[in-house]
Amino acid sequence: MVVPIKGFIENSLIEWEGKIVSIVFLPTCNLRCPYCHAPHLVQAPNELESIPLDAVVSKIRQNLGWVDGIVVTGGEPTSHRRLDVLLKVFKDTGILVRLDTNGTNPHVLKDLIDRDIIDCVAMDIKAPLRKEKYEQIAGVSCNIEDIKKSIRIIMESGIEYEFRTTVCPTQLNKDDIEDIARYIRGAGRYIIQSFKPNHCLDTKMLNIEPYPVETLRDFAASAGKYVDYCCVRGEAGKVLQRNW
Ligand code: SF4
Repeated sequence: MVVPIKGFIENSLIEWEGKIVSIVFLPTCNLRCPYCHAPHLVQAPNELESIPLDAVVSKIRQNLGWVDGIVVTGGEPTSHRRLDVLLKVFKDTGILVRLDTNGTNPHVLKDLIDRDIIDCVAMDIKAPLRKEKYEQIAGVSCNIEDIKKSIRIIMESGIEYEFRTTVCPTQLNKDDIEDIARYIRGAGRYIIQSFKPNHCLDTKMLNIEPYPVETLRDFAASAGKYVDYCCVRGEAGKVLQRNW
């Protein structure tokens, strides 16, 4: 198998705005975000059954014409050496391909973009781009320069993209979100998403109350001063500010 596939959702109307998509989940991740909702994929992927690639491709082919794209997520897809081969298989069916990534492998990202293997990328920005803060949220040591490189590659790519930050009250505040937005000044799209206290990698997170949605809207309005478009996940169009 090129890359083990550990989950497949045949169609989703909410994952890629304006599109009907399938979703593929790949195992393992190099980060350990305490709020991660995929602890099984990250910590014990071998306990999950793999789905044959042929079965996924056959479903994609069957659905061509009404399913627009496929989202490849994880875990961290760029952890897999042969990710390009897998994505090319999807791309060759004629479907649009979006990669979800934590941005820790800029060289992989650049290669996929340069070879036109992906049509869209969604990158998590975990925290303001300061090593100590970033590592606090990511749960492991991080190379901040790699994260910055990925941001640059994406913003210069010319393909569709989205940056997103998961916000938990014990980790990030309004100033942090504004710091991130300032760093990605001019970005096309920045999404604020609420941390959810269920199925978290660190069970201590289960007792934390998320921010109320009004607070997140306030964060998005503040971040919206720096980027072209910013909203709270699930509220596209409700909070929108432009600089010009
Ligand atoms: S939330 Fe963090 S640990 Fe979980 S898959 Fe994403 S980057 Fe990896």
